[in-house]
Amino acid sequence: MNLDGMFTRRGFLTSTSCLGAAIAMARYLPSPAMAAETAMDPRVAAQPLADKGFASVRKIGDGVYATISDLSKGLATISNGGFIAGKESSLMIEGFRSPAGAAFQLEALRSVSPAPVQAAIDTHYHFDHSMGNSYYGGQGIPVWAHEKTASMMALSYGSLQGTDKTEKLSALEKQAREAPTEAEREHLKGDMNAYKLVFGTVDSTMIGLPTRPLEASKLPLTVDLGGVKAVIEARPGHTPTDLIVRVPDRNIVFTGDLLFNFMYPATFDADLRAWRKTLDAFSGYDKETLFVPGHGPVCGPEGIARLRNVFGDLSEQAGKMYKAGIPVEEAKHRYVVPERFKGFPVFAWAFCIAPAIAKLYEEFKTGGV
Ligand SMILES: [Zn+2]
Repeated sequence: MNLDGMFTRRGFLTSTSCLGAAIAMARYLPSPAMAAETAMDPRVAAQPLADKGFASVRKIGDGVYATISDLSKGLATISNGGFIAGKESSLMIEGFRSPAGAAFQLEALRSVSPAPVQAAIDTHYHFDHSMGNSYYGGQGIPVWAHEKTASMMALSYGSLQGTDKTEKLSALEKQAREAPTEAEREHLKGDMNAYKLVFGTVDSTMIGLPTRPLEASKLPLTVDLGGVKAVIEARPGHTPTDLIVRVPDRNIVFTGDLLFNFMYPATFDADLRAWRKTLDAFSGYDKETLFVPGHGPVCGPEGIARLRNVFGDLSEQAGKMYKAGIPVEEAKHRYVVPERFKGFPVFAWAFCIAPAIAKLYEEFKTGGV
């Protein structure tokens, strides 16, 4: 079956409406440091099991595979994901940005296992992890997610479908024209591209809501796949809907967006205090743990330390500005990416840096300095 063919029209619509955004996303080109780090861990197979350019699937343990996106070659997946193939059944991770992304992952899974797929798990509700769900639905594969994921998808994306987006985009354009600094103008231009990408995705996608809500209070949930177990846990921080998937038998953790590796994190609906606690917990895992982040290359505990340092720098710069009495609206655009994080992509200033600064200001106000 030609999976590409099934999505030609949708793919065409998506790629045309997102062309500007796609060009902007070329900033996601992996740096040599990122590539070197991925190649270093001997558990990550040098040869991919499958490679479509926009993402490749590599074996990272017995029966465990990571799907790693390369945004410089396309935006079908955007996020990372993966799957765990046991003797009796399999579990997939992420619905990605599009049905074509989800189809690619299922095709790769099918090439190693004919066993039934128990479920695909969305680690959270964000569009780049969930907009391909309808493909799984069409294949009769249940989609599991945090109990709040379906409502947040409906609220954030369902409500946008078919609506006029020009007002929001022209407001951003006007803001960019009138921006008081060159830095702010650049931030706003990037934001516009990100909004265009989200709008284009939502308008060209049939949204597939998760079919099984997982109640956070009833987690962790252990799923025996035959010879390998997956443990689904709720860990707060990035959104109100975060799940991680651990494979204790293989010392592997799929973190969803609780880990951005070599990138600035998206923080617009984050609880930063909870997130830093979750990262502290990850730091306490076995030193040999292999982490599959939501974005960026597979890593060991050094990836956790790296994101903690990014949060540390955001907090340090925000703290200095807060103490100097700089108003929050100005502070949001005065954050400067330090030399050591220079190559780290920022998906959009409005999704990553600005909300982090605003949330840190709130923490300082309530006595967190
Ligand atoms: Zn996310």
